[in-house]
Amino acid sequence: MRTEPSQPLRVLVTGGAGFLGSHLCERLLDAGHDVLCVDNFYTGTRANVAGLLAHPSFELLRHDITFPLYVEVDRIFNLACPASPRHYQFDPVQTTKTSVHGAINLLGLAKRLRARIVQASTSEVYGDPAQHPQTEDYWGHVNPIGPRACYDEGKRCAETLFADYRRQHGLDTRIARIFNTYGPRMQPADGRVVSNFIVAALRGDPLTIQGDGWQTRSFCYVTDTIDGLVALMEASEPCPGPINIGNPGEFTVLELAERVRKLVKSRSPIVFVPAARDDPRQRRPDISLASRLLEWSPRVGLDEGLSRTIDYFRRTLVPGAKTPAAKAATTASVAADPRG
Ligand code: NAD
Ligand code: UDP
Ligand code: UDP
Repeated sequence: MRTEPSQPLRVLVTGGAGFLGSHLCERLLDAGHDVLCVDNFYTGTRANVAGLLAHPSFELLRHDITFPLYVEVDRIFNLACPASPRHYQFDPVQTTKTSVHGAINLLGLAKRLRARIVQASTSEVYGDPAQHPQTEDYWGHVNPIGPRACYDEGKRCAETLFADYRRQHGLDTRIARIFNTYGPRMQPADGRVVSNFIVAALRGDPLTIQGDGWQTRSFCYVTDTIDGLVALMEASEPCPGPINIGNPGEFTVLELAERVRKLVKSRSPIVFVPAARDDPRQRRPDISLASRLLEWSPRVGLDEGLSRTIDYFRRTLVPGAKTPAAKAATTASVAADPRG
């Protein structure tokens, strides 16, 4: 059951200068809350929140959540963590520290304040799933020592901490397992498939498919994911277990490439390179729990969401710069420094 709080609250958003975080900050300000955005700008940018800096209820603090944080707030959204494989694999030890030490610090903060806290977990906790679609009671199939482990296992350990602070300290912790989300303010060079394909199509560069293109993902438009996160925070009933937040529409990567080319009216070729190691073959959320407990389900279909994202990239792209997709077509795919 959902309820919106009637009083303005002080809400901390870690990772607030990132893709999802900046949309969440905006959404919370629109709802009348005070927002403290904490970010170390590892993959996020001040530009993402430039439009919010003059807002009287918005505050931006540069801070790395692997260090303790002493502030006074009523609610906490923990989104800080690089999310694209290219970025989280660049400094894998730091990725694990951000998920694990970061979770400990924010849970310590929440415990001192008795504040409700939401964790941005991920469908990656299911790994390369043997169960399809994925329900929250599926424990996953994760390689603990592979290149994705810093992210997958870091997020799994963060879930463990959120569950144990609930059991051991009676804290109101909530866990969103977010599936692939896309939309405006994705970084054009962060390597994620939707932004890579759109940027390449707009520039007439090749769309590079890693593997045979038959692997699937379920893509959720950013406003829907933000609605889900807010609904999870505001649910009046406690939500002890993780909840999938994603769009159950499932597409192959090849289908995605073809749709993007069609919507952009691009003549970019599609090229194939070897698959990334441990790449999940399939992914689709079962969202029965979210629709029952949060009365939430996504509203924006893939073509509409892609069109809005394409419009955003048309307006913001610097002409002429070489795209990640074009580079990936000619070089082996390696983790790139997120700082540019
Ligand atoms: P993003 O990289 O755009 O944003 C992450 C933000 O966290 C950035 O602003 C970055 O600078 C900040 N950050 C990283 N390490 C930090 C640290 N140690 N201290 C403080 N700030 C730090 O990624 P996103 O797509 O906005 O993802 C946000 C969250 O949602 C992440 O936790 C991610 O795991 C989760 N998530 C995202 C998706 C998706 O498809 N976008 C899917 C599943 C889960
Ligand atoms: N912490 C924090 N802000 C606070 C309270 C705690 O950053 O307002 C950090 C602190 O660094 C601590 C961690 O959260 O290491 C976990 O706190 P907790 O109280 O759970 O554990 P303890 O301090 O007993 O190790
Ligand atoms: N992918 C691709 N071309 C790209 C970027 C990604 O074929 O330019 C593939 C990638 O190998 C994976 C899927 O698209 O199979 C989704 O990748 P992304 O990094 O967006 O998300 P994740 O793997 O974390 O779900």
